Formats: sequence, structure tokens, C-alpha cells
Amino acid sequence: MKTIGIIGGMGPASTVIYYETLCELARARSGGNASARVMIDALDFGHVQALQQSGAWDEAGRELADAGKRLEQAGAGLVLLATNTMHKVAAPLQQALTVPFVHIIDATAARLSADGRRAPALLGTRYTMEEPFYPDYLANAFGAPPMVPEPGERDDIHHIIFDDLVKGIVTPVTTHRYIDIVQTLAARGADSVILGCTEIGLVLNAANSPLPVYDTARIHCEAAMDLATA
Ligand code: GLU
Repeated sequence: MKTIGIIGGMGPASTVIYYETLCELARARSGGNASARVMIDALDFGHVQALQQSGAWDEAGRELADAGKRLEQAGAGLVLLATNTMHKVAAPLQQALTVPFVHIIDATAARLSADGRRAPALLGTRYTMEEPFYPDYLANAFGAPPMVPEPGERDDIHHIIFDDLVKGIVTPVTTHRYIDIVQTLAARGADSVILGCTEIGLVLNAANSPLPVYDTARIHCEAAMDLATA
């Protein structure tokens, strides 16, 4: 198995999910006490959030490229960026690498297509839902743009991510708010929902979601494990 390099910390709660998921996948493949070969370069999320808020995306892209190079030099055979939002500046990171980069939107689009979905809805940070980088990339890779929640719903989704989910905080109130929003998207005609933030799997899952869920963190880990063991 190749060593999987993860650029993490965005936020900390989902980086934990990545490691747990990769180990679960390794065990399912190899049995016994097999676990995943992983190296994590976790950035300081407070610093990353400050770069996002001040619009310093070029600087963020440079810092991601540096992290990717560190992982590659330390022996990673492939690299993951464990956040949807920061794929806004995936290009400079990809250019800095010679090992494969597993793009979270490519992996998600492939899964939606394989399942014959036609009208996925997208939940994520405001950057992910409102800026073109994510919907446009998905439309190219999948063939159709995603449906996005209404403005008030987008506000709530965004604030719950940054106030609670990145810290691993889950409450019945926030869980029900997410379920209600997915219900509305289903009523508007969505046939599935992309959990386009790597922490949303903390509150929404196959058991409580009114629509079939596409959890980008899990899909990303599965794509990485396929490549690491190919
Ligand atoms: N984990 C989140 C995502 O997948 C949000 C944190 C961030 O802004 O990177 O977009």
C-alpha cells in the first residue's frame, strides 16, 4: 500500500474522520489488524480561516502547495486535500506535486454518475455553494450543475459548519436544521444530496437524511484507498 498524504486540519474534526475511515477501509480489505499508511500535515485552521476571510486565496494556495511538497518529500505516494472549500486553490497544489492528487470533486462526480443521479443538491460552506469554483467544476465533471439551498438556508449551513462542526460539536437543533433543509431540497426536485463539506457527515447520514447522501469525506477516502492499493 502506498502511503497516503493528507493535508488536514480544515477543520480538525474531519481530519480525524479521514484517518478513521481509511483505517476502516484498510481493515475491510486486508482483515486482521490492518490499518492505513497515512501521513497527516495538519494546518492551523484558525490561520486558514483568517486567510479565507481576508480573501488571501493566493497565499492559501502557496501554503497548500508547501504542505503537499512536504508530504511528497517525506514519502507520500499520493496526496489528499481533506476539505472541499480549499479545493478553490487546488491548482497550485496539484502543480507542485509529482505524485497523484486525488481531487474531491472528481471522486464525487464519478460516484454520482455511476449511480445514475440526475439532480444532486449541494451543501457546504458559503464559498463552496456560492462561488463558481465548486458548482462549475462539478458541472464539468458530472454533466449538470448542482441545486443549491436558498440564501437563508445557506447562511445556516455555513454558520453551523464554522461555529460547531469543525470543532466536532453536534446538537439536535443543528441536526434538525440540516434535515429540514434537505427536505426542502427534495421538495424542489433534488434526487440526492452532496455533503460537500467534510464535516457534514457528523450530522447527516443515510439513516436520517430525506435524500440519498454522497458524503465527500468518505468518497474521497475510498478513492484514495483504491489508488493506494492499486
Ligand atoms: N471542511 C470543510 C469543507 O469541506 C470546511 C472547512 C474549510 O473551510 O476548509 O469545506
